[in-house]
Amino acid sequence: MKTPERSATVAAAALLLAATFLTGFAEPQSSAPPSTERAPTRADLLRGDYGRYRANNDLVYYHLDVRVDPRQRSIAGKNSIRFKMLKDDTRIQLDLYANLNIDRIVMGTTTLAAARDHNTVYVDFPVTLKAGREYSVDFYYSGQPREIGRFGGMTFRTDSAGNPWINTACEGEGAALWWPNKDQWRDEVERMDISIAVPSDLVDVSNGAFVGKTDLADGYTRWDWRVQYPINNYSVSLNVGKYEHFSDRLGDLPLDFYVLPGSLEKAKVQFAQAKPMLEAFQHYFGDYPFKKDGYKLIEAPYSGMEHQSAVTYGNRFANGYLERDWTGVGISLKFDFIIIHESAHEWFGNAVSAADAADMWIHEGWATYLESLYVERRFGRDDALKYLNGYKSKVRNRDPIITQRGIHRTPPEDQYFKGALFLNTLRSVVNDDDRWWRLLRDLFQHFEYHNIVTDDLVRYVNAQLGKDYTPIFNQYLRRAALPTLELTVNDADRTVAYRWKADERDFAMPIRVGQPGNWRMIEPTTAWQVMPLETAKEQLEVATDLFYVNVSRS
Ligand SMILES: [Zn+2]
Repeated sequence: MKTPERSATVAAAALLLAATFLTGFAEPQSSAPPSTERAPTRADLLRGDYGRYRANNDLVYYHLDVRVDPRQRSIAGKNSIRFKMLKDDTRIQLDLYANLNIDRIVMGTTTLAAARDHNTVYVDFPVTLKAGREYSVDFYYSGQPREIGRFGGMTFRTDSAGNPWINTACEGEGAALWWPNKDQWRDEVERMDISIAVPSDLVDVSNGAFVGKTDLADGYTRWDWRVQYPINNYSVSLNVGKYEHFSDRLGDLPLDFYVLPGSLEKAKVQFAQAKPMLEAFQHYFGDYPFKKDGYKLIEAPYSGMEHQSAVTYGNRFANGYLERDWTGVGISLKFDFIIIHESAHEWFGNAVSAADAADMWIHEGWATYLESLYVERRFGRDDALKYLNGYKSKVRNRDPIITQRGIHRTPPEDQYFKGALFLNTLRSVVNDDDRWWRLLRDLFQHFEYHNIVTDDLVRYVNAQLGKDYTPIFNQYLRRAALPTLELTVNDADRTVAYRWKADERDFAMPIRVGQPGNWRMIEPTTAWQVMPLETAKEQLEVATDLFYVNVSRS
């Protein structure tokens, strides 16, 4: 059960897959310096820093109320922002991309002054806002949002029949590229209303429960949606098109599906996978976290995005990822990668959210690990291990997964694959599946609807397991290199010396060695220890499918 040796062909295929991934999910980094070393710009700092004018208030509620004009490729309207002051102050920091116009910002009947700096908007109040009190401002804006970034930002496309098809997806770039808000990850509104007016022959699907639609008698119809849970800004979305709707239920949870007319038959077959997906994740973690808002899948012109309760889908109604075998080991073709991965984010990403982009593995490492839990639940543990270990070909171990806080830097792709392989390793370290399942469930329930950083998670795991695993978390998440298990066989006296070589000085992690079916758990540290050699030297194996480590023998 060693890490399989890969032939040149397989390695080339893996590289090709990795390249596909880069274009589909993230910006290529090959020509850019490692992500942790690029200096932040002023715009990065404005975006990422949770400074005084963000920290002085706590978001309560948004009502985003806009009109979308497909012909002009423009948007206009307002966001009403309700917040509670935490400190006395006269200024707050909001965000709206510099290319969009601020029409006016008002509190009641008072027009407020605004100062712009890159994509930041400082709003100044003529009187001191008092700590403990709630205030509301109406932020009117208009303009033509830019089509940028991994998923397009805000795109004005047409479907194959020539009808407008308008979508938003702005996780990396930020929601401020199409609407004004407090654009950071730490603070979420408690609830939100979304009203999108579009030409009356079109449909808007946004997050939350459908409230109703109103004919505005000027050729436009307003679609109203209500989000009844905390929501990330980047999760807020509009999807405007000639959508057809069909629905289903899982117990008392409404499932709603919206696709273009030509996709209806394919979708009715493919979207049946939503039920076993929900069943699997509910089995491991408890109820779907956004019950009152329902669960939706919505066709979109990009691969997919975890918009809360309104997951967008563009995976060609086929299994695998964009019709490819995603981890290259024959498992991912058994399911629709986008339905499983993006919906996994309802648990990790949307319900449990990172408070800073530096800790984004809490979204991506976990969602990737949840893919393997889905495989385990549906197809068994062997398939799950095979699937997970297929991810090794995508890991680079070149930069730490956790990046610097406060600069809104998306971590390297290792956050997905290495993050998942790390969680699988942690399960093997715990070495007691009942305990592991309990830990996963309790951890999710404990942090549900919270925005956390990695330290919160580590503290919780350590407390639950009654052991300090901090050096293990640090080695996998805050260091680039994997730990290496060094084995030195002494043939003459039939012993094996072993230790960890790791960047973390206190690194200590149990691991299984011996032979499949006859593993023995040893507890190496960074100091040499010796054990008897119980097999032929060549037969001494390390369970590298259960523990993601390097092994060096001498
Ligand atoms: Zn993801």
